[in-house]
Amino acid sequence: MDILRTVVELRHWSRGLREWSRALGLQAVTEGGNLLGLVPTMGALHAGHASLIRLARKSCGYVAVSIFVNPTQFGPTEDFARYPRAFDEDCALAHAEGATVVFAPAVEEMYPPGASTLVDVAGLSRRLDGASRPGHFQGVATVVAKLLIASEADCAFFGQKDAAQVAVIRRLAADLRLATRIVVCPIVRDHSGLALSSRNVYLDLAERIQARVLRQTLISVESLVAQGERRAQTLLAAAHQTFATVPEVRIDYIELVHPDTLLPVESAVPGTLLALAAYVGKTRLIDNTILP
Ligand code: AMP
Repeated sequence: MDILRTVVELRHWSRGLREWSRALGLQAVTEGGNLLGLVPTMGALHAGHASLIRLARKSCGYVAVSIFVNPTQFGPTEDFARYPRAFDEDCALAHAEGATVVFAPAVEEMYPPGASTLVDVAGLSRRLDGASRPGHFQGVATVVAKLLIASEADCAFFGQKDAAQVAVIRRLAADLRLATRIVVCPIVRDHSGLALSSRNVYLDLAERIQARVLRQTLISVESLVAQGERRAQTLLAAAHQTFATVPEVRIDYIELVHPDTLLPVESAVPGTLLALAAYVGKTRLIDNTILP
């Protein structure tokens, strides 16, 4: 598995792959199949990332995994400096799951001196996590746009775990008329129901147990919906009640929204997104469910 460090290398590799496949008449190109899948990550890879790489490998002939801790999506008081980094282990995992290359640029490669172009998905970027983390989704949209343009991937794979990010990136790809198809993959959880996250390493044992309340809150709302309750006000009240059973965990937001606009709904319908964020100790965690 090769490790690419520059945008030129990535573009050259991707174009070479396409020319080579075309010359050999490979099905992936001739029948409109997917040649290249891209899995953007910030590294510290876990089973959630592994599932994205596996899904990419299933539907694409070749897979590039990007590993880049993107400084512009962190606020000034956030954890950019201490964000977990484990490059060698990440490469081993990516390779084991079938990645063809890892793209691991330096910060100056993605943001060359004087870089001032920002991608802002207006409106959506200020909803949910964007409301509590100003500038976060502008950083995400900017780096993802750069990665999609540089890789010329047929498909890019993202986790439902970051539901607001999915909405922002879908909008970005549609608005910029990008050729890359955005594929969304299910949330991977540990045995206790906690959604896997690179930030879970920050949690001590007591916090890991407290953090289960995120998933329990989602389940409490899902079961009310299964009983026929649809009113957002009632469902959110139940969510807050479940959350309150673990007072150590501080809610950032719990919202019932449309999955594409991220705007609040008054009544839950199939496909409504229930999303939440909370602080467990100093660690901010997110989780969500799409209601049935
Ligand atoms: P990150 O490295 O945290 O930026 O995540 C890279 C990609 O992996 C994003 O598309 C995330 O949504 C996805 N991801 C992270 N955690 C999980 C998980 N537990 N299950 C599925 N996908 C995930």
